[in-house]
Amino acid sequence: MARFTLPRDLYHGKGSLEELKNLNGKKAIIVVGGGSMRRFGFLDRAVNYLKEAGMEVALFENVEPDPSVETVMKGAEKMREFEPDWIISMGGGSPIDAAKAMWAFYEYPDTTFEDLITPFSFPTLRTKARFCAIPSTSGTATEVTAFSVITDYAKGIKYPLADFNITPDVAIVDPDLAETMPQKLTAHTGMDAMTHAIEAYVSTLHCDYTDPLALHAIKMIHQDLKASFDGDMEARDRMHNAQCLAGMAFSNALLGIVHSMAHKTGAAYSGGHIVHGCANAMYLPKVIKYNSKNDEAAARYAQIASFIGLKGSSNEELTDALIAELKSMNASLEIPSCIKDYEGGIIDEKEFMDKLPEVAKLAISDACTGSNPRIPTPEEMEQLLKACFYDEEIDF
Ligand code: FE
Repeated sequence: MARFTLPRDLYHGKGSLEELKNLNGKKAIIVVGGGSMRRFGFLDRAVNYLKEAGMEVALFENVEPDPSVETVMKGAEKMREFEPDWIISMGGGSPIDAAKAMWAFYEYPDTTFEDLITPFSFPTLRTKARFCAIPSTSGTATEVTAFSVITDYAKGIKYPLADFNITPDVAIVDPDLAETMPQKLTAHTGMDAMTHAIEAYVSTLHCDYTDPLALHAIKMIHQDLKASFDGDMEARDRMHNAQCLAGMAFSNALLGIVHSMAHKTGAAYSGGHIVHGCANAMYLPKVIKYNSKNDEAAARYAQIASFIGLKGSSNEELTDALIAELKSMNASLEIPSCIKDYEGGIIDEKEFMDKLPEVAKLAISDACTGSNPRIPTPEEMEQLLKACFYDEEIDF
């Protein structure tokens, strides 16, 4: 038996933000990030639409990038005071992810963060509020997924929370919001979406319901991401849909070790964070090569390559063509090929090597590892991470 869960309603297309007018409820709290939604006028518009719907509106602003456990607790507290029956989260992945976790602590004040970390162990939500997500970036697809990533800064770890209870009720995929993305964010979030679709397609939990979503997303991202990066707003609009399709696929097929590695390297080093989408983009070609030693995975990478028009006469040739294509996409999007070159070398080589055994162990225990087509040994994971640091070839 398998389950396939998506939001009950998804509104898409330019201007779809206006659908907020048609929500039924008494009180809505809007959760947003650092100010771009206010600056570009989307926050005011959302407030006005909700007021038109007859709702009292409160705001929770300034959710930081990579939201912390503390921010989640503060938001839940505010919700307990205000008692909303709608939680509206708007912005990049961070405010939406934070709002999902706040929702759980709003409805269950006595639960603990530790309780929620076990995948698919959430209590039943929607006893107090329903949830609407409005993404402004084209990558995480958190508006349609059962996931939320919260950072425990004290421990230096990112926790991917997972449960179909936190799949939103309503998603509004309005490309007007994504048109405000700066170029670098467009590249990183776009390759995050590409990684979602590829990992979902080769996941051990992929199925007939997730495969078409993943393949179509890969084709669209392959066609549109570079143009979107270069400022073509029609391509940018299509990317907003493509990343959402990728999200529908991976929310139900789950991911793989590219994400395990990105989660556990993201906040591990004193030089700075490795931005999620950029980490995925750098690690994806290495992991494809590693996974392709599994024949079934190689056949599926070959299907992806053929689907986007790449040439080769064997699964191995097609897989190599896919790897080459992804590397060339990275280069055209100004994404470095390895951690050593990330942001001019902010990740210290010695610190990386010192922490390698521990980070490898954490990556293997990440929730995304279980659905990867090949389960790495600790030694293999160390070798993979090292290859991602130095841009070494994978031959194991
Ligand atoms: Fe991701």
